[in-house]
Amino acid sequence: MNIQQTLSIIKPDAMKLKYSGKIIDFLEEKGFSIIAQKKIVLTKNQAEAFYIVHKDRPFFNELVEFMISGPIVVQIIEAKNAVSLYREIMGSTDPDKAEEGTIRKLYGSNIQCNAVHGSDSVENATTETSFFFNKLEMIK
Ligand code: ADP
Ligand code: MG
Repeated sequence: MNIQQTLSIIKPDAMKLKYSGKIIDFLEEKGFSIIAQKKIVLTKNQAEAFYIVHKDRPFFNELVEFMISGPIVVQIIEAKNAVSLYREIMGSTDPDKAEEGTIRKLYGSNIQCNAVHGSDSVENATTETSFFFNKLEMIK
């Protein structure tokens, strides 16, 4: 059993469309446990720091503006092989290309407003979970 934790973000588009409950339900149905969870609004500095790996991509400024445009829900979620399992059930970055039944296919609007974020590697999951949460906020 390779139990892992990963970071999930319900992005501003899905929050505005009131999909947060459906997304959390979906995660629990797929076997994830919620270890930590909070609703926040990112500052510009925080969003830039979180997405620093994308700083040279053409969509960086737009992405930062989108991510600070409203509340988000950040979560640490845990499951067997959580990192790859979450990437799988999230679906492709572009909801139009995402597989049927994935979160982005069900709840995403377009390549930017794609409902959720999930860490893309075990190493990044560790960095990203500790970006948002300290140990006292993680409850098994
Ligand atoms: P993923 O979230 O699937 O890991 P990336 O790490 O490549 O995708 O991109 C981070 C986020 O940046 C995406 O989830 C999406 O919100 C946004 N994004 C990615 N590509 C584009 C694009 N071509 N145009 C606008 N926004 C984009
Ligand atoms: Mg990514």
